Amino acid sequence: MSSSVIDFVATEARFGAHNYAPIGVVLSRGQGVWVWDTDGNRYLDCLSAYSAVSQGHCHPKILAAMVEQAHRLTLTSRAFHNDQLALFYEEIAALTGSHKVLPMNSGAEAVESAVKSVRKWGYEVKGVPDGQAEIIVCANNFHGRTLGIVGFSTDPETRTHFGPFAPGFRIIPFGDAAALEEAMTPNTVAFLVEPIQGEAGVIIPPAGYFAKVRELCTANNVMLVLDEIQTGLGRTGKLLAEQHEGIEADVTLLGKALSGGFYPVSAVLSNNDVLGTLRPGQHGSTFGGNPLACAVARAAVRVLVEEGMIENAARQGARFLEGLKDIRANTIREVRGRGLMLAVELHPEAGRARRYCEALQSKGILAKDTHEHTIRIAPPLVITSDQVDWALERLATTLTQDFS
Ligand SMILES: *Cc1c(COP(=O)(O)O)cnc(C)c1O
Repeated sequence: MSSSVIDFVATEARFGAHNYAPIGVVLSRGQGVWVWDTDGNRYLDCLSAYSAVSQGHCHPKILAAMVEQAHRLTLTSRAFHNDQLALFYEEIAALTGSHKVLPMNSGAEAVESAVKSVRKWGYEVKGVPDGQAEIIVCANNFHGRTLGIVGFSTDPETRTHFGPFAPGFRIIPFGDAAALEEAMTPNTVAFLVEPIQGEAGVIIPPAGYFAKVRELCTANNVMLVLDEIQTGLGRTGKLLAEQHEGIEADVTLLGKALSGGFYPVSAVLSNNDVLGTLRPGQHGSTFGGNPLACAVARAAVRVLVEEGMIENAARQGARFLEGLKDIRANTIREVRGRGLMLAVELHPEAGRARRYCEALQSKGILAKDTHEHTIRIAPPLVITSDQVDWALERLATTLTQDFS
């Protein structure tokens, strides 16, 4: 490590809250699937900022839209109209087939906004007695880090010593439709769920699960809220992961890649009157829907579609998954994935995934461990076949390496 690396790392450690444990690399530049550290070493980014940089680092068209808009107008607040918001609404609604859009900033804010909206819908439309609304969520969920959200997490690390938490959430196992049916009561307003559990380690539910979930939600007048903040916008090889299941959510949450990594932009999309219950003064955000965010999001979504990134994610994802399955290494317990949302789960005896991520770093690949034994692989959706093969070669040598 050069002295400059030690300096950045030490200074961060000295002044920053230690709420992250980053891999020991200091990045200073990115382009497409590649990032460079302060010493000029190049890495293939196999995390893509948890899928926020799906369009590739510093995409020139998103950059141009951002710079152009930043010269004209950045923030008006929603006290006034601006000439970007309507266009953002129109384009995202047309693309996703949604009727209403609520723009926010972070993913967690989109989740919070959805929770507020479905509760209000429950009281004002469904007729649930005030204060009694219940929302069903899944074990091992990840929906963000706000107090409201960590209160219904099942991860002790996430929750411990942050309470007291808000009531009104019921937790059921993921992938278990019978448990959902069991948990529903007349006061249930929504089922909030990830189509594929990302942070839990890319957990794909059994075939037919979401068809049954859709059926149960419709039959019981319960809003199906799909958190597609990570799975959405092409990551799984379709625009929305719900399309793999042949269903439509009542409320869809987008974030992360909605801005191609330039700026925090999230949105709540709804197909019905859930967002219609919000009246002036009842919800808002100073930065939500600002012209800079809208211009960036419009460009981010446009390049995703125009440059065929969604189809590429399907194609390269299939190639990557096949390649991972072909690696014969006794360190591997299971390989999972859909599109370019992939994971390699290691045998507990193989040691912690972190060591493998560090070994990958020395071979020019940045990946992140999750839950001790899983390596998550989620490169930008612009990755080519040659780059997939390049990554697979390095993964194969790393995973067959003996660390003991
Ligand atoms: C990342 C993520 C969030 C939270 O988004 P932030 O922008 O970090 O607040 C919520 N849900 C899912 C599924 C995510 O992957």
